[in-house]
Amino acid sequence: MKPRLESTELKVYRSVNARMELEGKEKLHYSFLEKWLEGELKFDSLLERLEGEYLILKDILLDYQGNLFQIDTLIISKNTIHMFEVKNYEGDYYVDADNWFSTSGTEIKNPLSQLKRTESLFRRYLQFFRSPLKLECYLVFVNPEFTLLQAPLNELIILPTQLNRFLRNLEFPRAPLTNTPINLAKKILADPIVDSPYKRLPTYEYKQLEKGIWCCRCRSLRTHVEGRKLLICESCGVQEELESAILRSVEEFQVLFLNRKITTNAVQDWCLVVESRKGIRRVLDKHYTKIGSKKHTYFIAK
Ligand SMILES: [Zn+2]
Repeated sequence: MKPRLESTELKVYRSVNARMELEGKEKLHYSFLEKWLEGELKFDSLLERLEGEYLILKDILLDYQGNLFQIDTLIISKNTIHMFEVKNYEGDYYVDADNWFSTSGTEIKNPLSQLKRTESLFRRYLQFFRSPLKLECYLVFVNPEFTLLQAPLNELIILPTQLNRFLRNLEFPRAPLTNTPINLAKKILADPIVDSPYKRLPTYEYKQLEKGIWCCRCRSLRTHVEGRKLLICESCGVQEELESAILRSVEEFQVLFLNRKITTNAVQDWCLVVESRKGIRRVLDKHYTKIGSKKHTYFIAK
């Protein structure tokens, strides 16, 4: 019912990373975001094999009396809600008392405590709506390169080697869903929070960013226009329709620079490799609404 969308935060990082050198904390945060999404997508693909009737909600941000909490994946079926916290950790980790460490000795946030906080808030949230469904929560490690040494015996933790078996054992009734689970999912989705307050954007300015159109496959800026209709990537060879490449770039420009107007000049400067002003103008005319005239023309979303 709710697909996983690329967050604005990740969009900004991807774009900025393609156009300038990220450093220090920003670079780390960006690789964390990519890794996180990779883990989520991996888990999504495993869920595709599940049978029966259920609803899947992904990336949910909820508010229980001023306490925000984020849920990676929810499966709502006839009598049960399965809540999953997904981790894409790689390498060897160990648990000492309640503390989690990588084998290099760095302490990480205890993911089990995170799960328990989310669970407790979500349980109260469900009670508030008088949901009769049973809640089961799991901490899932999806990366096959992850090992948890001295793993605590804990049925909430699903390690990579247990994951397939765990999912095979999940059984959902085949009968059509009743109103209870459907209404609950609707309530969750009706919650008005739109954007995560946790996002941390990198700092950048227009002039710092390298201009051009990045390749839709490998994100290289080494692209050029061939004829009037094609964008060719010099790094991986992929060809893309110029129109869709320009549209992609305009969307990117809007995400990065909320306060800048979309004009033919602005887009041409941003795209760099498109020599034809007319070509850009035609794409904007077709997909956007024109405001003003002559020198003062700009475009807004239709
Ligand atoms: Zn490419």
